[in-house]
Amino acid sequence: MENIDYEEFVFVEESDIHGKGIFISTGVSKGEKILSIKGEPIDGNECMRREEEEDNVYIFWNFEDMYIDTAMTNKIKYINHNCDFNCDIVDENKDGLMLIAYKDIKAGEELTIDYGYEDIYEECACNLCINELE
Ligand SMILES: [Zn+2]
Repeated sequence: MENIDYEEFVFVEESDIHGKGIFISTGVSKGEKILSIKGEPIDGNECMRREEEEDNVYIFWNFEDMYIDTAMTNKIKYINHNCDFNCDIVDENKDGLMLIAYKDIKAGEELTIDYGYEDIYEECACNLCINELE
């Protein structure tokens, strides 16, 4: 399979879900790697400090007790939650994560993940959650 660097196709734009989101301008097949998530590796204590003292919401859990702070990145930090998500995050190594396509994605679609936080679902306005209320 041809190795396409999808990162250059990822762009930031206003989102219908929340604030800004990240979108892709080309189609991606399920399982393909889209974007390498590189940020500042921090440990669990520093993660808690940044979340509480700095209100930082751009931290991704890596593995074991390692976290990646993506506040300084220009794309991945804008990824939104959707219960009907189309992307997944997998461990790459100690310093990085990889965003992959969880399903086939069409050109122009917003890229979303499952944040996995209970408090997000209560406020979620995705199609699945809105239909549940009706
Ligand atoms: Zn939802």
